[in-house]
This record gives sequence, C-alpha cells and structure tokens, in this order.
Amino acid sequence: MSKIVVVGGGAAGLELVTRLGRRFSRRGEHEVVLVEPASHHYWKPRLHEIAAGTFDNELDAVSYLQHSYCNQYRYVQASMADLNRENKSIEIRNSDGQLSTLHYDYLVIAVGAVSNDFKTEGVSEHCLFLDSADQAQQAWEQINPLLKADGQRHISIVGAGATGVELAAELAKVSQKLKRYRHDADLKITLVEASDRVLPAGPACMSQKVLNSLVQHGVDVKTNTRVNRAEKGKLVTDQGDVLTADLQLWAAGIKCAPWLASLDGLETNRLNQLKVDSTLRTTLDDSIFVIGDSAECPQPDGGFVTPRAQAANQAAGHLARQLRRLLNGKSMMPFIFNDGGMVIAVGHNYAVGSLMNNKLIVRGRFVRNLYDTIFRLHQQILFGWGRVAALVVLKRVKASLNPFYKHNIS
Ligand SMILES: Cc1cc2nc3c(=O)[nH]c(=O)nc-3n(C[C@H](O)[C@H](O)[C@H](O)COP(=O)(O)OP(=O)(O)OC[C@H]3O[C@@H](n4cnc5c(N)ncnc54)[C@H](O)[C@@H]3O)c2cc1C
Repeated sequence: MSKIVVVGGGAAGLELVTRLGRRFSRRGEHEVVLVEPASHHYWKPRLHEIAAGTFDNELDAVSYLQHSYCNQYRYVQASMADLNRENKSIEIRNSDGQLSTLHYDYLVIAVGAVSNDFKTEGVSEHCLFLDSADQAQQAWEQINPLLKADGQRHISIVGAGATGVELAAELAKVSQKLKRYRHDADLKITLVEASDRVLPAGPACMSQKVLNSLVQHGVDVKTNTRVNRAEKGKLVTDQGDVLTADLQLWAAGIKCAPWLASLDGLETNRLNQLKVDSTLRTTLDDSIFVIGDSAECPQPDGGFVTPRAQAANQAAGHLARQLRRLLNGKSMMPFIFNDGGMVIAVGHNYAVGSLMNNKLIVRGRFVRNLYDTIFRLHQQILFGWGRVAALVVLKRVKASLNPFYKHNIS
C-alpha cells in the first residue's frame, strides 16, 4: 500500500485527490492525503466575483471536510512548510502554527501561483491582491463601502490579463446595475496595462474585442502605462503621471511562493516554478510530481505549459491516470497540454473567446455559457453530473429571485 500526499487543493490538486480517492481509497489499495490550509475550495477564476460581491458562497464553495469524507481521501488542514527528500517527508504547519511531519511514498505539489509585483516599490503595502478567497473577501470589504458611497469613487486595477479584465468588467457591471437603484452611485474603474494591448498573452484580435467591450462598460483602459511606484491612493507611472484612486488592486503577472525555490535542492526557474520533465516528475526526484501553476512543464514544441485553469485540470486528469500506471508497475506517459482555447468573461452576460488555435474569435452571451461550462466541468469531476445539474437549476432560480449584487443595496 502506497501513501500519496497531494499538497494544495486548488484547480489541479482537488481534482487529483478526488480521482485518486475514489479509485484507490475505497478499495483500500492506497492512501490518499490532501494538505490544504483553507477550509473551503473556491474556483480561482471566479475570485473576482467574490471581490465584486456577485459570488454565490452557498452554491459554489466546496467544504474540504465534507468533500474528503464523500470521496475517501484524508484532508489535513495545514500548509506545507518544508521538504526532506531523504526521509520522504514534508513539514506541515497547522492554523495554530504547530509544526508536524507527514511521510509520503509519492508527493504531488499543486500549490498554485500568486501575483507578481515585479518588486515594484510600494505595491505590497498599498495595493490589494486577488490570489486567494481571503484576499478577494478583503477586497470586497473595501469595495462595498465605495459602492455604497455618495458621489463618484475610483478604483485602479493594474494588469489587463484575465484577472484584471474580468475584475474590471464585473465591477463596472455591478456599478451600472446599482445606478438603476441609486442614481448617485458611481464607480470609476481604470485598468492599467504596461503592454500595448489588453490580454497581452492572448491573440491580438481577441484583445481588440475585449477592449471594445470594456470601453462600452465604461472602463478607462490605459495601455502602454507601466506603474513604477505605488503610494497610498496613488500609482506613479514611468512617465511620471500620477493616477489617484480610492482603492488599488494589483493583478499583473504571476510567480510562485519563494519557499518553493528552497525546497531541498529541487530545481526551479526564475518565477520559482518547480521544473518537471514531460511526465510531471521533478527533474531531481522520481517520487515528487508537480502540477498546475507551480510547475514548469516542457512541451514537444519547445515551450512550456501555460499557467491556466484548463492546463491545471488536464494535468490532474493525466497524473491520476499515470499514477495508476506507475502503481501497477507500468511506465508513465508524457503530459501534452491540449489547448482548447481561451475564454474571458466581460461582465455577467458576455464573454469573448478564442478557439481552434486562435483561428476563431467568438463573443456574446452563448460564449459566457461556454465560460461557465469550464467551471461546471470542474464541478462535475468533484461531484458528478447529477449534483451539477441541481446546482445549475438552483443558481438560475436564485438569480431570478435575488438582486445581482449581494449585499446592502440600501
Ligand atoms: C481572479 C483570477 C481569475 C482567473 N481567470 C482565469 C481564466 O479566466 N482562465 C484561466 O484559465 N485561468 C484563470 N486564472 C488562473 C487559474 O485560476 C489558475 O491557473 C489555476 O487556478 C491554477 O490551478 P492550481 O491548482 O495550480 O492552483 P490554485 O487553483 O491556485 O490552487 C492552489 C492551492 O494550493 C493551496 N496552497 C498554497 N500554498 C500552500 C501550502 N504552502 N501548503 C498547502 N497548500 C497550499 C492554496 O490554498 C490553493 O488551494 C485566474 C486566476 C485568478 C486569480
């Protein structure tokens, strides 16, 4: 009997333990353990909805405790702090700060990534981030009073990748809806991007469509604008311009937590991502695997797997199959990411997508349904289609009864 320890219960890690738990633990073949500090799982691409007050906590958050019980894996509420490869053990810290040791036969690291402030002065002190549900909740607690205030309030968002675009559009939509109830409510949103277009990692024609939609939503988009310094209520650009705001959010770039770079000699890149071979195994240790945003995984074309939810999900499915092969004494197959395209939500009812290797750009309400499908597919792995169907129906009913923006319309 082998013990498989998965660290991080996000888009990649939670799908992996679900598949492994159902497969191995029920039959008592192997033990599956999830190490995760949070009590609930939130689908990270929807954190901007928590920050904008439009997320449905009751329907869309997953309790690790309950999920682990139903899917036969062990959930340990703690964070990984260190690794001892010789002893095949990790050091974990619980919420009281107590350290303990957990042994493994196979270790999978899936701790994701966080925003990259590129060491820009003042950013960590004067900007909010959206890297976890807790941070998104903190952002919401500061955004909510701005939505309720009389007169115009101003939010600046730095970084026009998927996170920045989706957050700007969601906030603009909330502000528009609120204006219907209270005519003096007014939120001005500025989206600041260093490159010459929004979604710099996507195809140029998609960027143009997303830009048009943001402008229609009333978002002030400033491209070719690099932030050099953040101060209280101010962003200073490399041109010396000063952008003032009541609240500043940083959503530019990604990097992994620094502790990954000092993990018992494992190889990392400049973003602190752990280097793996094509089978998702770390380059220096055959019993340690990495999936999701924290892996630098090579691809046959010479590039690397992109840090996206879709890639995290595919890697989890692939590794679940390959661990079964490995435990049955077979060789492991390489992971090849199959890019199904990119879909960006621009507000609640509209999305822009690039499909078929960027040959087809689609937009509209039906594309927004496609965006939701990616989340539903994740839920399907976690719960099965029956519960997903029930959640979709419940959500529709609740949406027709409740206001769009969740709190404090008075
Ligand atoms: C607001 C936002 C919008 C996004 N929109 C999109 C989008 O539209 N499309 C898209 O493809 N991607 C999007 N992304 C990126 C996508 O969410 C990530 O690529 C994906 O979640 C990566 O999955 P992961 O499992 O590697 O990491 P995560 O989903 O981040 O999960 C990491 C888990 O590890 C846990 N963890 C962290 N440190 C430790 C530790 N020391 N010990 C134990 N556990 C730990 C965390 O609590 C978390 O549960 C978005 C991201 C954000 C923040």
